[in-house]
Amino acid sequence: ENTQNIQIVAITGLSDLESKLKGIELGVDDYLIKPVNMHILRTRVKSLVKKKALLDRLCDKYEMAVHSAITDKLTGLYNRRYFDHFLDFEIKRSSRQKASLALLMIDIDNFKLINDTLGHLFGDKILNKLGDIIKSIIRETDLAARYGGEEFLLVLPETRLENAEVLAERLRQHIAKKIIETEEEKVSITASFGVTGFDDLNSHKEIITFDALINTADKYLYAAKKQGRNKVICGPFPG
Ligand code: GH3
Ligand code: MG
Ligand code: MG
Repeated sequence: ENTQNIQIVAITGLSDLESKLKGIELGVDDYLIKPVNMHILRTRVKSLVKKKALLDRLCDKYEMAVHSAITDKLTGLYNRRYFDHFLDFEIKRSSRQKASLALLMIDIDNFKLINDTLGHLFGDKILNKLGDIIKSIIRETDLAARYGGEEFLLVLPETRLENAEVLAERLRQHIAKKIIETEEEKVSITASFGVTGFDDLNSHKEIITFDALINTADKYLYAAKKQGRNKVICGPFPG
């Protein structure tokens, strides 16, 4: 993929149509027959260099468009649209392969109060920092998304519930320890966690649906809030 826009000129002694077509089929961008006139070669190379620059620009723009369509701007995590697509795919894959899958739902504690006392912009800064903390903790195969205002969801493929609980606890402690500061303010936050999932041994008798999995994580998150916040509550699916 990195070299796909490189332009190739074939210089050959074969002038028959079949050889030309074969060259084009193999990905040659231009075709010159020997003996080569250096002026013609130079002109062709110039125009291919222009073509490559245009293709590179188009590829960059396409990548940027794809990135912004699936990313949450404030946190740099995936957005809800991409999360929905990813979780749906992972549920199907895990069900088929009878593999484990865990889901973490995270909600910042008393965030409204932080916004009300320190201002919405500072609240945004906290969301941004939380995105960084989450990114620094998860594995490459995990997916983290901003699901709502100050709610985050993590999908951990091939992860058993007990390991997901360990990760959630580590993340909870990391968040509580982190001091978020600007020139004027210094604050620490906490978050509550609802963790659920199914493992490779059981639960596969049940039909696993997207909504049921989210609702179960939400239920455990609600329990964490009820038990005083800054907590991880982990439970099986279906709950
Ligand atoms: P709880 O511990 O029960 O979760 O209390 P809470 O105050 O965090 O309650 P809740 O989760 O219902 O509050 C969500 C708040 O998050 C409300 C809104 O002010 C804030 N919020 C939502 N989206 C954004 C955002 O994009 N930026 C900022 N700064 N604040 C946001
Ligand atoms: Mg909330
Ligand atoms: Mg909250």
